[in-house]
Amino acid sequence: MSSTDGRRHVVIVGGGFAGLGCARRLAEHDHVRVTLIDRNNYHQFQPLLYQVATSLLAPSDIAHSLREVFADQDNVDVKLAEISTVDPASRTVTSTGGDQWSGDALVLAAGSQPNFFHTPGAAENSFPLYSLDNATRLRSRILGLFEQVDRNPDLRRRGALNFVIVGGGPTGVEVAGALADMVRETVPTEYRGIDPDSAHIFLLDYGDALLTPFSDKAHKYVAKVLTDRNVELRLGTGVKEVATGHALLSDGAVIPTRCVIWGGGIMAAPIAAECGLAQGTGGRFDAQPDLTLAGSPGVYVVGDIANIAGDDGKPLPQLGSVALQSGKTAADNVLADFAGKPRTPFAYRDKGIMAMIGRGAAIAEVGKNHHEVHGQLAHVAWLGVHASLMTGTRDKIEAIIDWGWDRFTKTGGPHVLDRGEAAEIDWEDDEVVASGAGTKPGPTNPA
Ligand SMILES: Cc1cc2nc3c(=O)[nH]c(=O)nc-3n(C[C@H](O)[C@H](O)[C@H](O)COP(=O)(O)OP(=O)(O)OC[C@H]3O[C@@H](n4cnc5c(N)ncnc54)[C@H](O)[C@@H]3O)c2cc1C
Repeated sequence: MSSTDGRRHVVIVGGGFAGLGCARRLAEHDHVRVTLIDRNNYHQFQPLLYQVATSLLAPSDIAHSLREVFADQDNVDVKLAEISTVDPASRTVTSTGGDQWSGDALVLAAGSQPNFFHTPGAAENSFPLYSLDNATRLRSRILGLFEQVDRNPDLRRRGALNFVIVGGGPTGVEVAGALADMVRETVPTEYRGIDPDSAHIFLLDYGDALLTPFSDKAHKYVAKVLTDRNVELRLGTGVKEVATGHALLSDGAVIPTRCVIWGGGIMAAPIAAECGLAQGTGGRFDAQPDLTLAGSPGVYVVGDIANIAGDDGKPLPQLGSVALQSGKTAADNVLADFAGKPRTPFAYRDKGIMAMIGRGAAIAEVGKNHHEVHGQLAHVAWLGVHASLMTGTRDKIEAIIDWGWDRFTKTGGPHVLDRGEAAEIDWEDDEVVASGAGTKPGPTNPA
């Protein structure tokens, strides 16, 4: 399905920040047509997945129809398809259903998938948080546990209210804070028989600080906010194994739990391995400075699927801003190729980083000099930045209403248990998947 009408054809795989940034920029040019392919018919706003998982926002607040985004651009054609193979030489992609698309340029923007680092049982038994599907599944598991304990308080002894969060980066910290707020403020009003103190939230990280890209002062602030909200920090500790009924930690401790939340790391989306090309750190493609792929003319790699070097030559972190900006630069370079002009190297404009730690508590490093702000001010900045980045006006308004409602009522958003399969638990099934020690360690229930 290459160009037949004289217009140059660009195929983009992935409608996340990178793919959307690229498609929007190309859509401004009538001499180009774009086929934007995604396995979902919506763009999902990943930074707010944790708010869906902890019932602060509704799924529809953070998902926006890709067809609606491009409704006014007739040179962008959205296709719902999961790409399974990529032929960089002919710039052709093939879907699981056998459909094929070939372009004069091909932009790979398929993002990431969770990296379980070969931890036994983690892929099968933990709850990653990288897609809307993950977030609704986790929300149903959390609510399902509260429902089950409400019916049968004895289940607390089996670890029903122990939540183990793996990874002290933004995903782990944000979900820990939001879950702590839910337990302290929402649970007592909706599950009146459950004592919030009987719930335990553990946050594990192999490192000695949370949110490592921030300053030491910020590390102390984050640790204090979370411990004040009853989150138990286990720094210098990771998870060695995730079984159906417990987590085995690297220090030998065993936590009975039915909810291990995986924020432990990411790697390139599976299609990176399908191209038959060299993969760098994290299975990602090493992008050239102009975001092309070495040895594959007309193929661009952008966003989380690529290692993109910053000014210092080191790979930039996997961030929405890097993805969006790289998508736009790739579009400019595709247009330059079509016009026979030289490409421009990617130059990241760093506007800072921020993370929400819980209601009224956030941390932000803003501006070129990374000026650090904590607390309410950072919370307000966080709300403003995230609302402005959301794709549709309706999404922005709905999210702002939900945040405002939660701020004043502390009741959170929709507590909807809509994924019955995620809430279903076989309490008899409590075997260790594989134990490095060779024996099943005795449960140590902190409840
Ligand atoms: C929980 C969480 C919190 C985050 N918080 C922040 C934050 O606060 N600030 C920040 O800057 N960044 C944050 N990030 C990182 C940021 O969301 C990512 O860097 C960004 O989404 C990457 O954009 P992308 O377009 O490369 O990939 P994605 O946004 O992952 O988009 C990839 C798209 O490709 C599609 N796709 C994948 N494989 C296929 C296939 N085979 N066929 C068809 N379609 C496919 C997917 O459906 C998806 O729509 C967070 C990430 C997560 C997971």
